[in-house]
Amino acid sequence: MTAPIANRLQAIHTDIDDIARQCGRSPADIKLIAVSKRKPAIDIVAAYDCGQRLFGENTVQEARDKIPEVNKTDIDWHFIGHLQKNKAKYIPGLFQWLHALDSINLAEKLSAQCKNKNVMLNTLIQVNVSRDPNKQGLAPEQLPNFIEDLLQASLYGIELKGLMTIGLQTGDQNKIQASFAGLKLLQQQCQERLGLPGFSELSMGMSGDYALAIREGATMVRVGSAIFGERDQS
Ligand SMILES: *Cc1c(COP(=O)(O)O)cnc(C)c1O
Repeated sequence: MTAPIANRLQAIHTDIDDIARQCGRSPADIKLIAVSKRKPAIDIVAAYDCGQRLFGENTVQEARDKIPEVNKTDIDWHFIGHLQKNKAKYIPGLFQWLHALDSINLAEKLSAQCKNKNVMLNTLIQVNVSRDPNKQGLAPEQLPNFIEDLLQASLYGIELKGLMTIGLQTGDQNKIQASFAGLKLLQQQCQERLGLPGFSELSMGMSGDYALAIREGATMVRVGSAIFGERDQS
């Protein structure tokens, strides 16, 4: 299965570069996170051997098995799923990025472990821009207070880097686009109102909608099945 992963990865890079240029952005400003959840370590290594260095996982147990198995020190691991508070202790040190912060209590637990291990955690706040009842994340209007509370708490090791959202599951491209544009607007407002110049990352777009996300300003796209093939249901 090595060749298909290499080919798909190459095709996605070419596509991202084309889309970026079409909308006047630099391809270097868009990071591709290869979402390897429910795929074996051998597939991760295949992508690594093609130069891929950013990978996304969404369960703690799977990551605790696979990350040591892959055993590469120059990979940035991104935790992209909803994180239960009782699993927070496993994240710092194992992962370099967390995409789905949605509570102060979770941030405190993560911070305590950053302190224990003397590591940092780059953090994105998940926003449910489309107000999908099936999705996690803060409502857009909760965001300013949430960030102010986080800053007030000045939590060790928690680096606030930006926002994350999951596009609406719909065939209506306009609705998906609107949610991505909404996240970009929120990020700009946070930067301005809260004086956070480094709050610049926008994690949005998956296999089916990364083109739209890049046009609306994504700096990270999280692509799984388009690289690794369809996943088994579980
Ligand atoms: C699984 C997952 C992805 C990747 O989805 P694909 O459609 O396979 O590209 C991206 N983001 C999150 C949060 C995910 O859980």
